Amino acid sequence: SGCWEPQYRVVLLGDPGVGKTSLANAFAGVQERDLLEQHGEVAYERTLSVDGEETTLLVIDAWEPERRESWHRSHCLQVGNAYVIVYSITDHGSFESASELRIQLRSMRQAEDIPIILVGNKSDLRLRPIPVSCPRVPSPSLCPVSVPLPCPRVPGAVPPPCPPLAEGRACAMMFDCKFIETSAALQHNVAELFEGVVRQLRLRREGK
Ligand code: GDP
Repeated sequence: SGCWEPQYRVVLLGDPGVGKTSLANAFAGVQERDLLEQHGEVAYERTLSVDGEETTLLVIDAWEPERRESWHRSHCLQVGNAYVIVYSITDHGSFESASELRIQLRSMRQAEDIPIILVGNKSDLRLRPIPVSCPRVPSPSLCPVSVPLPCPRVPGAVPPPCPPLAEGRACAMMFDCKFIETSAALQHNVAELFEGVVRQLRLRREGK
């Protein structure tokens, strides 16, 4: 026991601004931060004790969608043992990007059964439930849980639709990946997210 700690590379993907760096920082913690930088890539290493067993994760925060060089994209898509695809629940475009990323990743790593976790971040911004009777929400079904803005009854404050929990879950199921909502800002579900990554990696290790 303790003689061999497996280490896994976990790559964060997702649009700019969705909270990848914030999640990586929340994962690393202030005390235990061990920031490694290689070839301009930032990675955070931490050993987690999950179900009584230690596993070291190297969380890589290097995804820059605006960098069009295909080698950089394919490097990121090839290097991970597991992927965390992040969107912001306040940004529907980032949800669509997450779907595209899952398709790209699955097609590039077809032969492998790599764990992919879909993360709806900024869950703290689900502040107010939409009043069912609110006349200003044309289609409350777009966002049945809540919206991140003041009550849409307030003139001029029509909320943008945000992907509801159910939508994230349904997409995750369709693409055979796990789903969790997090708040990097409140550190909500961040530990659970990375523990989930560890469990998914172990399931596959044991399956082989
Ligand atoms: P990245 O570009 O994906 O790495 O995103 P960042 O981690 O740099 O975050 C972008 C912005 O979103 C920053 O202003 C963060 O403070 C903010 N942010 C990140 N996570 C959360 C969250 O869970 N809740 C809220 N309210 N803001 C967040």
